[in-house]
Amino acid sequence: MTVKDPVCGRQVSPDQARFSTDVEGTKYYFCSEECKQKFEDDPRRYVDVPGTASASPKP
Ligand SMILES: [Zn+2]
Repeated sequence: MTVKDPVCGRQVSPDQARFSTDVEGTKYYFCSEECKQKFEDDPRRYVDVPGTASASPKP
């Protein structure tokens, strides 16, 4: 089973993924640390994050 790396779109296996992060209780997996860092920088750019959609927008 694989999941999609939300940053680059690559399929990654949660069993083998070395890079993952948790946003609002949902776990995301990444192919590389670079993708993870990009995601953590601005998760809403890549996925719909529940609870933060109406958070204060970036300037
Ligand atoms: Zn990636």
